[in-house]
Amino acid sequence: MEIIHTIEVKALVELQKKDAWIDAMKADVAGIPVKIADLNAAFEKKKNSMSAAREALTALQVKKKDSELKIAEAEEGIRKHQRELNLVKDNNVFKALLTEIENDKKNKDELETGVLFLLEEIDKASAQDKEIQAEVKKMEEAMRSEVSALEASAKSLAASLEAEKIKREAAAAALNPELLDKYENIRVNKNGLAVAVVHEDPETGKFSCGGCHMSLTPQKTLDIKKTGVFAVCQDCRRLMYLEKTVYPDLAQSVPPAQPQV
Ligand SMILES: [Zn+2]
Repeated sequence: MEIIHTIEVKALVELQKKDAWIDAMKADVAGIPVKIADLNAAFEKKKNSMSAAREALTALQVKKKDSELKIAEAEEGIRKHQRELNLVKDNNVFKALLTEIENDKKNKDELETGVLFLLEEIDKASAQDKEIQAEVKKMEEAMRSEVSALEASAKSLAASLEAEKIKREAAAAALNPELLDKYENIRVNKNGLAVAVVHEDPETGKFSCGGCHMSLTPQKTLDIKKTGVFAVCQDCRRLMYLEKTVYPDLAQSVPPAQPQV
């Protein structure tokens, strides 16, 4: 059937608009938990970077403590060898002890230089640790308020959706069952859009299907201008209508956007 005569063109167009709104709303509602999960994931990532910064700081502090122990050991070695110096009589042993003391001192100097370097590193790591902690705190506050706003909007969207569904059922029940059946079948197969507005190119005056965007044949272009009809798109089989025929009062206005398919 290439053309469908019905007195319910406008009613079916309105039903399609309701359904498009409901579908978009359902997608919005379904998208909210995903958005919340994304926020939580980003926050977890940030918290991990906070742990990494803290670990880096702790590692530096451990390293510093270790160097300090080694310095104490070197000092102890120096003291021990100096005590021994007073007791030895043999010149070679005396020289060997002096060399050991020199080595210990050298070792101690190197360790002390290392500790100074570590102190600088600890300062930097500590500043970074504080900075990340502050960022995490800020992010957590922002996330909490964003999540509660999303949860509130999910609730209110769900309520609007339920109210609209009731209206939609009433509108559907008032339609001719055969026409409704046809509509539902096309909707299932055509991604929710069964009734498509025809677009008129303002420059060329050419008509195209708002569902599949294919140009209308000359016959369809004539059919679509009739009142009380849906022309069936030769390409996607959707039911097409012309805005200014269905809504003559709005002839001068821009037709509302149809969902993209
Ligand atoms: Zn089409």
